[in-house]
Amino acid sequence: MTTIPNKNVAKIETAHKSAEQTPYKINEFFETIQGEGSFTGQPSIFIRLQGCPVGCSWCDTKHTWDIELSEQVNAKTMMTKKQETPQWANLTALQLLELVKKEGYQAKHIVITGGEPCMVDLTPLCDEFEQQGYSTQIETSGTFEIKTTKKCWVTVSPKINMRGGYKILDSAMQRANEIKHPIATEQHVDDLKMLLIQHQINNTAIYIQPISQKKRATELAIATCIANNWRLSVQVHKYLGIE
Ligand code: SF4
Repeated sequence: MTTIPNKNVAKIETAHKSAEQTPYKINEFFETIQGEGSFTGQPSIFIRLQGCPVGCSWCDTKHTWDIELSEQVNAKTMMTKKQETPQWANLTALQLLELVKKEGYQAKHIVITGGEPCMVDLTPLCDEFEQQGYSTQIETSGTFEIKTTKKCWVTVSPKINMRGGYKILDSAMQRANEIKHPIATEQHVDDLKMLLIQHQINNTAIYIQPISQKKRATELAIATCIANNWRLSVQVHKYLGIE
C-alpha cells in the first residue's frame, strides 16, 4: 500500500477545502468548440466570470462588466437564461463539477473567460478541474496579476489604452503561453509591436484576430500575419454560428 506523507495529505486537504469554499461569480457555463487561438477546434467547457473594469469600446460581452448584487441568481436560472444578461450565480469549483455531470458535458478542456477572470484568484478553480483530469485555459486582458496553476494555459489578449486606464502587466506578458491580439487598424498592429518590444517578448506564439468578420479587418489580419510570421485566429465559432 502506498503511504502519502502527512504533509502531502495536508496539502491535498487544503486544496480540496479551498475548492469547496471559493465561490466564483459565474455569468455563463456552457459546452462548445473553442474557436480562437492554439486550441481552435477543441471541445471545451466555457466558464464566463462576471466583472470587468477594462472598458474596451468594442467589447462583445458588455453585460459582464458590472457586478450587481441584485443580479445574483441560482445555478438553475443562470444555466437556463436564453439571452445575454448581467445575471450571475455564485458557484464553487465542486459545484461546477456537479453541473458538468448534470448537464452531461463531455469536453475535457476548461476555458475560463469573462469579463476579466484575473480579477480573482483562479488557482482553486483550475486546480480542482485539473485534479479531475481536465486541462485548463484562461483568457485575460493582461491587466491584472494572473493567479492560476502552473499547468494552466494562459492566453493574454492585451487590451492597450482602454477607457478603464489599466496598464498591461509585465508579469502577465511573461506568463502568457500565447498572445492573441484583436485588430481593426494599423494602429492596433503598431500598438502590439511596441508592447512586444517593451516586454521583450520573442518566443511566445502570437495570434492576430480580426476584430470583426468584416472584410477590411480580415484582410488586414491576413496581411499582418504574413508580414510578421504570426498566426491567424478567426473566431471560428462566429462563422459556424455557435456560442
Ligand atoms: S477586457 Fe474583455 S470583457 Fe473586459 S471590456 Fe475588454 S473585451 Fe470586454
